Amino acid sequence: MTFERRCLIVPEDIIALQYECRNCGAATVVPSDKGIGNAANTALSSCSYCHTESGFKIGTNEVKVFSEFHASLASLKLAMQGRNLKLRLQIICPDEKEKQPKP
Ligand SMILES: [Zn+2]
Repeated sequence: MTFERRCLIVPEDIIALQYECRNCGAATVVPSDKGIGNAANTALSSCSYCHTESGFKIGTNEVKVFSEFHASLASLKLAMQGRNLKLRLQIICPDEKEKQPKP
């Protein structure tokens, strides 16, 4: 008998998004139910600790995509309520991630 281990999360499990500065490691946590403005502000702000720019620029498609992703998470939770279809996101299990090569 062979077992396959899968790590799955449901949208309701996502309570916040964490954005980490690649330069200093400082993290900003944005609750997933907060508005699109919070996400856009996070994308456009420089790091509050080391002041390194995020790399996002006002009015670009990348900021739009970033903001829409944030808004979609909140909308997705509502869209899935009361449905017969259950959405699960498969992730790399935490202990397996440690074995992955670092980017
Ligand atoms: Zn930083």
